[in-house]
Amino acid sequence: MSDSDFLSKLISDYPQFSFKSGKKFKFRPKKTIFYVSKSPNFKPLLLHELSHALLGHFSFETSLERLQIERDAWQKTSELCALYSIPFSEDFFTEELDSYRDWLHKKTLCRVCGLSCIELSSTSLYCPKCQKIYSKISTPSKHHS
Ligand SMILES: [Zn+2]
Ligand SMILES: [Zn+2]
Repeated sequence: MSDSDFLSKLISDYPQFSFKSGKKFKFRPKKTIFYVSKSPNFKPLLLHELSHALLGHFSFETSLERLQIERDAWQKTSELCALYSIPFSEDFFTEELDSYRDWLHKKTLCRVCGLSCIELSSTSLYCPKCQKIYSKISTPSKHHS
């Protein structure tokens, strides 16, 4: 099945969501799924965003929750891949999760001393060495979300 046929199939199977072409694969609550045409991993990434939508991943507070959400979404993605007979690469999934973990980790490093900070909330970090509270910088992810 071609990528565009697959997209049409999902659109008819999941009329509750709207699928739109975008700059990266992304689920925007509550019902918009963005996809990138001509991506080499179009099908699994599209199913991944669909997983976020189906699981109702509308918000997250901390990096740990975020990572758990990603893990759940990949689990659901593997189920959907089986359902649609799409080959699901365990390696691809592990790499995606690892790069995600790295990205989240870098976001929590103290910008003065480089130490890993404690997350106080979704917007603030505390560095135990500098004994200072920082507001989190929101760095855009290269990664899909
Ligand atoms: Zn520090
Ligand atoms: Zn995700």
